[in-house]
Amino acid sequence: MATLMIECPVCAEVLELTEEDRADLPVGEVIVCDSCHSEMEVTRNDGGEDFELELLGAMTTCPNCDEEFEVTPELLQAAPMTRAQDGVEVALMTCPHCRAKFELELADEAV
Ligand SMILES: [Zn+2]
Ligand SMILES: [Zn+2]
Repeated sequence: MATLMIECPVCAEVLELTEEDRADLPVGEVIVCDSCHSEMEVTRNDGGEDFELELLGAMTTCPNCDEEFEVTPELLQAAPMTRAQDGVEVALMTCPHCRAKFELELADEAV
């Protein structure tokens, strides 16, 4: 019985997936990190240790053009942080469709 240790790409929490766990995870299935609640989609599961996950970013909708897009960790890292009028920390996102800038309030899990 091989157990795979997969490191969460967001918080580095190690997820242990036994062979049984993986048997229940067809490609396209989404698993959630226990620690930071990031969602990861199974992109490969061919048995044994042939198993891969891809991080799913949060989806957000541009207030300017109404296009939905994915907020990836790379996008967030590139986004300057600023504080909104009420003191909430927000990321200044750029819409990949219309290039409009808008403030995105982050989940308040990070203390
Ligand atoms: Zn995590
Ligand atoms: Zn837009």
